[in-house]
Amino acid sequence: MTLFEKIVAREIPADIVFEDGDCLAFRDISPKAPVHILVVPKRAIPRVAEAVPEDAALLGRLLLTAARIAKSEGISDSGFRLVVNNGGDGGETVTHLHVHLLGGRALGWPPG
Ligand code: 5GP
Repeated sequence: MTLFEKIVAREIPADIVFEDGDCLAFRDISPKAPVHILVVPKRAIPRVAEAVPEDAALLGRLLLTAARIAKSEGISDSGFRLVVNNGGDGGETVTHLHVHLLGGRALGWPPG
């Protein structure tokens, strides 16, 4: 079971901000911005590089869910960033696909 599957199963506590049948969203334990929320599929896909065409609808739902949460968090108009880290150089540390929703301050580009 992945760390995020344990959060989905409520075996590990998290500050959950949204849930539906396919997705769960909760605040990152180590926030990098005033708003830092992780949107995860309940069904674990290890990383985006391992997603398959059958996952297309679920991947779309993750983005739409993140955009919806950006609105509810009040950062949709000011701007926000969605990040998917993939593999070692990408900064992936949890092997369960997740979209980072970051906002609430001006974010630098490019990332370091
Ligand atoms: P990654 O580096 O894989 O893209 O992102 C993993 C994220 O999960 C990190 O931002 C990290 O702070 C967050 N994280 C790791 N463990 C926990 C946890 O137990 N609870 C929560 N809410 N976030 C976690």
